[in-house]
Amino acid sequence: MDKFIPLSVPKLKGKELEYVTNAIETEWVSTGGAYINEFEKNIAKYLNIENAVACQSGTAGLHLALRLCEVKYGDEVIVPTLTFIAAVNPVKYLGAEPIFMDCDDTLNMDLDKLEEFCEKECYLTEKGLINKKTKKIIKALVVVHVFGNMVNMEKIMNIANKYKLKVVEDATEALGTYCTEGKYKSKFAGTIGDFGVYSFNGNKIITTGGGGMLVGKNIDLVLKAKYLSTQAKDDQLYYNHSEIGYNYRMTNIQAALGVAQLERLEEFIQIKTKNYSLYKSKIKNIEGLSLLDFNQNCRSNYWFYSLVINKEKYGLNRDELLKKLSEKKIQTRPIWGLIHKQKPYVNSQSYKIEKANYYLEKIINIPCSTNLSKEEVLMVIKALTNLKLSI
Ligand SMILES: *Cc1c(COP(=O)(O)O)cnc(C)c1O
Repeated sequence: MDKFIPLSVPKLKGKELEYVTNAIETEWVSTGGAYINEFEKNIAKYLNIENAVACQSGTAGLHLALRLCEVKYGDEVIVPTLTFIAAVNPVKYLGAEPIFMDCDDTLNMDLDKLEEFCEKECYLTEKGLINKKTKKIIKALVVVHVFGNMVNMEKIMNIANKYKLKVVEDATEALGTYCTEGKYKSKFAGTIGDFGVYSFNGNKIITTGGGGMLVGKNIDLVLKAKYLSTQAKDDQLYYNHSEIGYNYRMTNIQAALGVAQLERLEEFIQIKTKNYSLYKSKIKNIEGLSLLDFNQNCRSNYWFYSLVINKEKYGLNRDELLKKLSEKKIQTRPIWGLIHKQKPYVNSQSYKIEKANYYLEKIINIPCSTNLSKEEVLMVIKALTNLKLSI
């Protein structure tokens, strides 16, 4: 019997059990406790920044970030269409509207089209950037470092400064990725824009079961995020509130997991990088298949691997290959359904979306867990090779 090879599962064999046990034995299981502070401190240290705020999910972090960008009812926010829907939904939570952008050949947002949109379809005023079509203010831009591959932040920040846009970096998939060249050399993905958000969902590079972390340039706003995440309590005794907050704080049990996982992040990145290289070196010999590159001017975390299928040359299309691999107990997945085509967003504005359609049809993500062994990588490669031979 073939062994099941999952797409992406966590590895919890470090100090996770010890720290979680400690959290339980000390009975600090809720949204207070030493592990929360420690996790925040350790993440900030790892990222070379001052402050970080632990939340219940990446989605919660994105919601807080957009609220602190002062995105309000009736505003607009530029977002990518090729991403996970959690990057976009918080725009709607705030009563604002998304404007969808295309991707480029790296699957990240097409920055030339972004600039063209700001230039041709909008105009600048004292209040900010106005969308010609709707006359609404475009307050912010959400950029996603897709699959851990870093967006060109220098270009993003230039565009954002020119057009007065706040930048939220959705770095939920990119913890550990940093620039190795240019103006932002040694800066981590998530630490360059106004806000950055990480996720510790089960399939992310490190996990707390569910969880997220918000970071930002302005320390007052980061502290404000913490305040909003704990129901906007003005004091701990009388429970006075002067704003509407949320129950978005991470629990101490989650943070205990996070502290243990973070200890192993660099090791996980090494494993992901090694497995990627092995896949890459073998897949290039299979006609009709290739593995998408990660940008060379960064140290990437190599979170997810994208296999590009040329149907004419390989003989199978995306769904046929996915099904055949599944029969061999190898789990793969297409990239996400484009957000501008999802029911809640069909009436939203989108700008010249072309490449996202193209890549959506051609890519599957292949197994990339940190506990994936060399033998398993070779099994996947063998399956890909044999499937072609059997056509
Ligand atoms: C995982 C993910 C999120 C959401 O994170 P959660 O912690 O699951 O809420 C947001 N955006 C992208 C691109 C993601 O991959």
